[in-house]
Parts: sequence; structure tokens; C-alpha cells
Amino acid sequence: MIQLTNVEKSFPHKGQLVHAVNDVTLSIEAGEIFGLIGYSGAGKSTLLRCMNLLEKPTSGRVVVDGQELTTLSKGALQKARRKIGMIFQHFHLLSSATVADNIAFPLRLEGMSRSDIKTRVEEMLHVVGLDGYESKYPSQLSGGQKQRVAIARALANKPDILLCDEATSALDPETTGSILKLLLDINRTLRLTIVIVTHQMEVVREICDRVAVMSEGKIVETGSVADILVNPTHPVTRRLTGMAA
Ligand code: ATP
Ligand code: MG
Repeated sequence: MIQLTNVEKSFPHKGQLVHAVNDVTLSIEAGEIFGLIGYSGAGKSTLLRCMNLLEKPTSGRVVVDGQELTTLSKGALQKARRKIGMIFQHFHLLSSATVADNIAFPLRLEGMSRSDIKTRVEEMLHVVGLDGYESKYPSQLSGGQKQRVAIARALANKPDILLCDEATSALDPETTGSILKLLLDINRTLRLTIVIVTHQMEVVREICDRVAVMSEGKIVETGSVADILVNPTHPVTRRLTGMAA
């Protein structure tokens, strides 16, 4: 479970403060697929990065599975972060490393033995449907395959939570569909909590259980996807669902 209480993040910009995230209070339940939607600049990525403290909130509390990340020492935070995987729009793979080495990267940091790493890499490649791809390089893969490798790497430490920042925005509609199906499978089989940041309502409609709508750093509407789609109340939500504002 992820609990954010009065989370704020501001950045200095041209002598003024930009409130990227402005007093957000939100609970995401274990095992759900939660969508965070909004237009560009709404603060979605900043809020997502606050969930694993890649971004340190200016104020407020971030509690993940009962542990308050905002008060942890550096070492304890690193350990807590292993329980939280993350994937990105542009995959962030190491281009000079093979698929196997990319997936092994977080495992080496943990000090896992070579033979255990080999077994884990094979296991992860199987999960994402890329059996036998160990020796390929990222440049030899399609966008969808790169994202599968990034997912395998994010899951290598067996996290409880996966944070996804526009994970399908660089992919064509068909590939988007296959990645969303993979995320749904992982959610069901591994009981993984997934948070999906997107500006596409289709993504939310396809796989999310609940959704929060963000605008100007604030959450302006939260609810089940069914409710939000049928009865959007905030003008931003109405625009995102294709209804007039
Ligand atoms: P997009 O859909 O374009 O990715 P977003 O909803 O993810 O947008 P954020 O990237 O979280 O939005 O940015 C929210 C606001 O915070 C924007 O006004 C942005 O310019 C500002 N911002 C984000 N990161 C920084 C930073 N490191 N320094 C200064 N301003 C920042
Ligand atoms: Mg963003």
C-alpha cells in the first residue's frame, strides 16, 4: 500500500517557486492497478517519483507498506527502494550491455551470486515472453521488446510495486496493447501493485482499477475507472474522456 499525505514538491524557477505537486493526499491499495492521468505539466511524473523518493517531497509523508520513506536514512531508503520497480517511456536500457546484463544490473548491486543471477535472468525473460534473448543488445530489439526487457529488469529484485511513467507512450497501438496485457498478467500472477502515469485515457480504460486525475499539481478527481468514464465531474476529466468541458 502506498499512502501519500499532504505531499508537496516545489522547484525554484526564474526566482519563483513552481508547485509541481501541491498538497496531494492519496492511498493506493496493495494489488491494484492505479492510473494517474492528466495533461502535460500536471505533475504526474513528479508525484510518481515522490512514491519512491527519486524526488524528495518538499513536505508531506510518503508511507509504503507501513514504512515512512520520508524519514529513512540513505541506506534504509536504498533497501526500501528494492521493493519498488520503475519503467519509463524511453526504456532507459544500457545500450552497451546485453539483455542479460541489463536485467542482471540490479541483482549485481545486491551482491547476488553469478549462478543465481543466471537463473533469475532466465526466469524474468520467461515472465516477459523473451525466452532466449539473453545475448541480444537493445539496438537489436523493437520498442515493445525493449520495454519488456525494462520490465524484466524492474521485476528482477521481485518488488511489490511497479511504477510506470508513460511506459507505452512511445509505442504503436498494437504494441501498447501487448505491453498493457503483460502488465495485467504480472499484476494478477505476481500480485504486484502497479501505478501507471499516462495522458491516454485508453490506457486507463484498458487496465486500471482506479484512477486519479491531476491538474496543476493537484488531484482533482479520484474514483473507479468505471465511474470516472461514465460520470466525469471535473472539467479536466471531461476533456480527457472526450466529453465537452
Ligand atoms: P508530462 O505529461 O509532460 O510528462 P507531467 O504531468 O509528468 O508532464 P511533471 O514532469 O511532473 O509533469 O512537471 C510538473 C511541473 O513541474 C512542470 O511545470 C515542470 O516544468 C515542473 N518541473 C518538473 N521537474 C522539474 C525540475 N527538476 N525543475 C524545475 N521544474 C520542474
Ligand atoms: Mg511526465
